[in-house]
Amino acid sequence: MKFYKRMQTRKVNIGNVTIGGGSPVVIQSMTNTNSSDWKATVKQIKQLEEAGCEIVRVSLPDMESAYNVGKIKKNIKIPLVADIHFDYRIALEAIKRGIDKLRINPGNIGSKDKVEILVKEAKKAHVPIRIGINAGSLKEIHNFTDSVSRAKALANAALDHVKILEKHSFKDIVVSLKASNIDTTVQAYKFFATKRNYPLHLGITEAGSTFSGTIKSAAGLGIMLYDGIGDTLRVSLTADPVEEVKMAYFLLQSMGLRNSGLEIVSCPTCSRCQVDLIKIVSEVEKKTSAMKNLKKLSKPIKIAMMGCVVNGPGEAKDADFGKFF
Ligand code: SF4
Repeated sequence: MKFYKRMQTRKVNIGNVTIGGGSPVVIQSMTNTNSSDWKATVKQIKQLEEAGCEIVRVSLPDMESAYNVGKIKKNIKIPLVADIHFDYRIALEAIKRGIDKLRINPGNIGSKDKVEILVKEAKKAHVPIRIGINAGSLKEIHNFTDSVSRAKALANAALDHVKILEKHSFKDIVVSLKASNIDTTVQAYKFFATKRNYPLHLGITEAGSTFSGTIKSAAGLGIMLYDGIGDTLRVSLTADPVEEVKMAYFLLQSMGLRNSGLEIVSCPTCSRCQVDLIKIVSEVEKKTSAMKNLKKLSKPIKIAMMGCVVNGPGEAKDADFGKFF
C-alpha cells in the first residue's frame, strides 16, 4: 500500500470506527430516504453497508425523525451520524436516543448559546461533533469573489466554532469545509490544516450527477489526499447513495489509500486489438461486482485484461490474473 505523508490528526472515535490519527481514510455516505420512515431508512443503510459504507449520516429535519434514531441504530451495524440544521433541540433529542456523532452547520444552527448547550450535552454523552461548514449556507462568503478570500472565510468560520467547542474543553471534533468550487475547497482545507489538527472530513459539495460529480470529486479530493489531507470522505452525488460509496472506494483504491478489494486494469484498445475487449471487460466487471466491496476482500486482487502484446505481458505479470489477446 502506498502511504502518502498523511497529516497527523487527532483520533476521534465514532461508535466503533476511528477517524484520524493515521487510521485508514473512512468512507461515508448519507441516506436520502425520509428519516421519519425508519424502515425505509434502515433498508437503505443496509444497502450502503453492503456496498462498503463505514459511517452513515441521516438528516433529521424534525423531532419526529429524531425519535427514530434508536430504532434505526438497533437495526444497523455502522455508526450513525445525525445531520441537524436550524433547531438544536433536535440534536439534543438525537443524543438522548444514542446517536454516534452530530454534524451541525453553525452557520444555521442559531446563536452561540444554543451551540454551547449542545456542546455540553454532547460532551456528557461522548458524542463527537463535526463542524460542517458549507459555502452555500455561510453568509460571509458572499462578501468575497476570489477563491482565496472565500476559502479563508470558510476556514475562519470553522475556527470560530471550533473555539466555542474548545472553550468547553471539547476535543472530539471533526471539521469539513465544503464548497462546490474545487479551488475554494482545497484552499480552505489547506488553510484550516495549518491552524488545528482535528481530523478532516473531505467533500466537494453539490458536485453533480454520478458522471460529472465523480470526476469533480475525484479531482478535488485527489489533490487533498495526495497532500496528506483527509481522514474521512463523502463523494456527494445526485444519485443513489450506494453510488457514492462505490466511487469513494474506487478513488481511495486508485490512490493506494485502501488496499483491499478488486482492481481491474484494462487498456483503452486500438487498431492492434483483435477482440471485443470493451465487451469482455464489461462482462468481467459485472461478474466480479460483488467482489468490489472493500470489506469483502481482505486481500487485494488485480485482474489485467489487455488488447495485445505491446503492454499486455507487463500488466499481466503485475496482476493476480492477467490476460492479453
Ligand atoms: S495494449 Fe495493445 S491493444 Fe491495448 S491500447 Fe495498447 S497497443 Fe492497443
